Amino acid sequence: MGQKLRKDISPRWRWDLSHMFKNKQALEDCAKQMDAGIPELAALAGKVHEDPMKAVRASFALSRLAGNYFVYSRMQQDQDGSNSAYKAQMARAEAYAVKVRAAGAFLEPELLMLPESTLKRLMEDEELSEYSVFFHKLLRQKPHILPPEQEQILAKGGEVFATASRTFNILDNVDLPLPETLMEDGSKQRLTHADYGNRMRSHNRAVRRDAFTGMMNAYGDFKGTLSTLYISSVKNDVLQADLRHYASAREASLSQNDIPLSVYDSLLKEAHKAFPILDRYMRLRKKALGLDELHLYDLYVPITDSFQLDLPYQKAAKMVKDGLKPLGSEYQGLLERAFSERWIDVYETRGKRSGAYSWGTYDSHPYVLLNHTDSINGAMTLAHELGHAMHSYYSNQTQPYEKAQYSLFAAEVASTCNEVLFNHALQEEYRDNKQAQLFFLTDLAEGFRTTFFRQTMFAEFEHLAHQMAEKGEALTDLNLSNLYEQLNRQYYGRECVIDPEIRHEWMRIPISTGRSMCTSMPPAIRRRCTWPAAS
Ligand SMILES: [Zn+2]
Repeated sequence: MGQKLRKDISPRWRWDLSHMFKNKQALEDCAKQMDAGIPELAALAGKVHEDPMKAVRASFALSRLAGNYFVYSRMQQDQDGSNSAYKAQMARAEAYAVKVRAAGAFLEPELLMLPESTLKRLMEDEELSEYSVFFHKLLRQKPHILPPEQEQILAKGGEVFATASRTFNILDNVDLPLPETLMEDGSKQRLTHADYGNRMRSHNRAVRRDAFTGMMNAYGDFKGTLSTLYISSVKNDVLQADLRHYASAREASLSQNDIPLSVYDSLLKEAHKAFPILDRYMRLRKKALGLDELHLYDLYVPITDSFQLDLPYQKAAKMVKDGLKPLGSEYQGLLERAFSERWIDVYETRGKRSGAYSWGTYDSHPYVLLNHTDSINGAMTLAHELGHAMHSYYSNQTQPYEKAQYSLFAAEVASTCNEVLFNHALQEEYRDNKQAQLFFLTDLAEGFRTTFFRQTMFAEFEHLAHQMAEKGEALTDLNLSNLYEQLNRQYYGRECVIDPEIRHEWMRIPISTGRSMCTSMPPAIRRRCTWPAAS
């Protein structure tokens, strides 16, 4: 695993990036177009009030080129990060992205200085309908944009504001020592983030208990540093929200995706209302596993160990395609294209980026990166990523470039829907096999527990922590750990033993920087599926 080189893999299982840029010359042409477009756009600074649409059009055209160039370069690097030519190309792409952003930095602040009525008129102009979403977002931001000098100060401080997030990432990914924990064969091996999920799914209870306590205590040992980082990040969110005239950090955060507070509130309300169903599932799990006490480290192990399915890629691809038949013949045809026209990079190879994602540009078909394993999980990942890919395909087909991007909030709908359809198909296929039925049904139930309940619990934790900061209550590692333990009690405590080590789990929640309000036009957005449900 991982030792195979790219050239050892048949081209058939490698994506074909030449659909983005035919050859080196095409890539060079794109760079030349950017070289010409950058000074042209920059020259419009200070003149937006004279002809706003000239600058908007120039900016979108340049973003499109830079997006194509960047996505291609990054995907090339993702296929082999050790290739120095790819690295050099990526550095060029990053430099262009910076230049393009700098050249157009004047645009949004200048547009925001126009009277609201002008922006509204532009938004409603039918001749400019492809820009309506852009102006809608701009208008929504307007009350939260500060005078130019203040914006400049905030922009200059951007890197400093991101200190907590950067420090957390280094500590979490590199410096945090993880202990050796028990393996199936009785030996002890160093725990890794990647393997934590596997150990938590072990049918040997001692293996998962050891992984759980080992992981939680590893974070607990750094509670001083980790809580200081988390608290600074919360205070930073509260400060930024306050400076930008949002009523709360929560409102500022939700506004990025245009989500009303009421959606958040009803999510929590519905999750709480559904606790009796969660309890029932916990009781079932306890019974099926034959345990007299259900612990938090018993939540990930499949409740049957007598069903295994070996799914080499071609078989997985066929099963996924069949499972998605309810989406119609057009969708089937697109899946066929994805498989036969090399939209997908299938196998793990040396230097390839880990995990899975769907990406691409507006001017190309979508691509999928996998590190396929011959398991149901591998097939599920394929179904999931193809959901993103087809969502992008349809969005790009239906919308003009200027409004084809969809929000992260909407993204997981398409992928999760595919997972559920695929699960139903598998249940149908193995309907005479009781163990298989049990396996697929728990897989579905786990999806609800981890995606719906667990993620909602994280959201609730973050909200309450920010609220404490907003009310001026002291944030300490002790009261954050208390809060997290209490939430676990509320979600799982009726049927599950709340192990004391769970108090440390909140320290694993990734700290993100928050973003500046003036970057509503990234060259392209990347969809990745992080926060694996099982860890
Ligand atoms: Zn996803």
